[in-house]
Amino acid sequence: MIKKQNLWQLYRSKPLVFRIGIAFILGSIAGLIFGEKINFIAPLGSLFIKLLKMIIIPIVFLTLVGAMRRLTPSKLGLVGIQTVALYLITTAIAIIIGLITANLISPGIGLELPLSAEIMSKDAPSLTNVLLGIVPQNPVQALAEGNVLQTIFVAIVFGLALAVLQETAAGDIKAGISSIFNIVEAGTEAMFKIVWGVMEFGVLGVFALMASVFAETGLQALLPFAKLIFSLLLAVIIQISITYLLVIVVGFLKQRPLAFVSGVKDAMLTALSIRSSSGTLPVSMANAEDNLQIDEEIYSFTLPLGATINMDGTAMYQGVAAVFAANLIGQTLTLSQQLTIIITAVLASIGTAGVPGSGLIMLTMVLTQLGLPLSVVGFVAGIDPILDRLRTINNVTGDLAVTALVAKWNDTIDFTKGSWSTRKK
Ligand code: ASP
Repeated sequence: MIKKQNLWQLYRSKPLVFRIGIAFILGSIAGLIFGEKINFIAPLGSLFIKLLKMIIIPIVFLTLVGAMRRLTPSKLGLVGIQTVALYLITTAIAIIIGLITANLISPGIGLELPLSAEIMSKDAPSLTNVLLGIVPQNPVQALAEGNVLQTIFVAIVFGLALAVLQETAAGDIKAGISSIFNIVEAGTEAMFKIVWGVMEFGVLGVFALMASVFAETGLQALLPFAKLIFSLLLAVIIQISITYLLVIVVGFLKQRPLAFVSGVKDAMLTALSIRSSSGTLPVSMANAEDNLQIDEEIYSFTLPLGATINMDGTAMYQGVAAVFAANLIGQTLTLSQQLTIIITAVLASIGTAGVPGSGLIMLTMVLTQLGLPLSVVGFVAGIDPILDRLRTINNVTGDLAVTALVAKWNDTIDFTKGSWSTRKK
């Protein structure tokens, strides 16, 4: 009895990602050893996927309505608009880069899994229809049918209306709105509790999913995972070196790229080790202050905002992972589906928190929107600690690059001091 308890305590004392990583490895080995005989545990994998599905719509809705509270119109002003616009543009560029590299590498090809796409439409809708499709006929129906993009739209519109009213209304209405926001925040917290509960079960779910994959395909299943990591790595390198360094630092700031990199390296290293852009915030702020020589009035607004709404690496990963998922079922993503990824990921990233693993939750939204198999979330969960590090480095670097540009536009950065002035030997 005592022994059992100790084992359980030992198990619980390990971080969840570690346990999921182990489940990924053990599941794969079990699949290789036992082959088809292990298929009896497959329902555990299906249950994991059903649980994930269950939480997508409430999470999308609640996180986005809540995010709008932070974007209150009076806080925005010119700096706010510049920052939000740059954040959204760089995020869209990141996804496009992710889609291009993944389409070139085709990380999931070579491994065709017996997965079925749920609602993958055969006849691709036109660009106009994709855009028109964002607006639901009926908001309640959008939520009930699990249409992610429409739910995102409804949440942003509703949240913005509340945010505007909160500033202009008075009396009961103002009090009512602040209660709604409080309820939304409490609801979001509750949803995240559920997410972590589901992820606890995910240890079994991932084991079962991986066992089935390896039982079916043998060792050759490993290559796609390596290619997935490589695709994301390449996309991150391109985004950092071209979008941030070449375009922003050299093009707009007219500075040496290495000066920027040496200025933000502590934030990048912290992001790499803790996998959270929110957690990295103090280091990012210190780097902005001491090395990039940016005024506090700018970075104290742009960096916390970036840690919540700007997720270039996370959004880029959605593109890479969606191509991976499509490869696994032997499909190619149509142009309008890729456009859908861009819109969904840019908007969903606004509500995604800068905490470890939140990119995985966003992936459930994107795959659902595209009708791609959700079990892919289970497959990639096992290697997420690696992918997450790459995403977070990109997220943090993107926040700092945009912050430097906004600072330059507002004359609040000193290029004669800090890391800008120290010549690299
Ligand atoms: N860990 C990432 C961050 O904090 C989010 C994610 O992609 O999972 O920025």
